[in-house]
Amino acid sequence: MGNTVKNNKAEDNIENYSNEALFCDLGLYHKVHVDCTDFEHTSQQDYDSKYGTEFTVYEIRYSKQFNRLINFMLDTKNVLMFCPLCNERLSFQLDTVPLSKELKDPFLDGYADYQIDDELYTSEVYRMSERIRSIISENGMFDKLIRCTHDSSHVFKFSYMLQKEGTYPNEFLTLTKIGQYPSIRDLNIGNIKPYQKLLKKYKKEYTTALELHSAGIGIGSFVYLRRIIEVLVENAFSKAVKDGKITKDEYEDEKVRERIKLLRDYLPPFIVDHTHIYKILSKGIHELDEEECNDMFPVLKKSIDFILDEEIEIQTREKDVNETSKKLGQMNSQNTIV
Ligand SMILES: [Zn+2]
Repeated sequence: MGNTVKNNKAEDNIENYSNEALFCDLGLYHKVHVDCTDFEHTSQQDYDSKYGTEFTVYEIRYSKQFNRLINFMLDTKNVLMFCPLCNERLSFQLDTVPLSKELKDPFLDGYADYQIDDELYTSEVYRMSERIRSIISENGMFDKLIRCTHDSSHVFKFSYMLQKEGTYPNEFLTLTKIGQYPSIRDLNIGNIKPYQKLLKKYKKEYTTALELHSAGIGIGSFVYLRRIIEVLVENAFSKAVKDGKITKDEYEDEKVRERIKLLRDYLPPFIVDHTHIYKILSKGIHELDEEECNDMFPVLKKSIDFILDEEIEIQTREKDVNETSKKLGQMNSQNTIV
């Protein structure tokens, strides 16, 4: 389960995760890449008043991804999340992770343009390597605590591990979540709460997908996300048959992506516009490994969230239309209107 990270496999990197995603979406034991050597270069003009000359100062700082890691550890800005104990979405305060002064400073090296011809070679890679060693020895395992602003006894803990990968001068880090309370499932109950009544049929698939993803079982989670689409399509088919818009033969002859197009009037627009979601999920199940599926999970889960939101809108409207139509019928039969 994702125990190896290839050096070139940088697509699932820490910059793809907001703080909230690092708490609520990142599955346990799934490694996230933190590039350390794609340094940020800045330059600025300076003036030497003694000699009356202008020169350029170059500075080399942490890579964007290493900076993101440091910011996540230090960040104290509130995040809006579902509190399973309060049972609503609330602001959480973040505790900072204690870091040494050296690690907090993103500056690695600097030089002026007139020094370039000198035999001065930049040492940013070496200095970065030292920082990597420092962060591993000081914070190789760290906890991020967050506190519910509604009730100070609601303190949640997320534990992470940092590991050095690669060899000098191509070292990088991986961030792995190794524990958390509450579970990913409980933190996401807020997302499925509105679905529970109207979308009972999908609840089991949805929560199982989250549970499997949080346990690092990527392919299994895809099976359940795909199942949500299949159930949606089956329900749309039943409605379309009832309306006389489609026959069983027409439906059974088609592949799922074609069925979605045939049933476009009965399905949430997001799935109609993105029929390839089904293809991606199927490809994951048949061809990809656990790690690749886990990398793709957050975007696919978000897509399913959009689809279920739209399905709720459709169902709510249908219910309203039916009730209003029934009331109008009653008024008409009671002859209360002349
Ligand atoms: Zn709370």
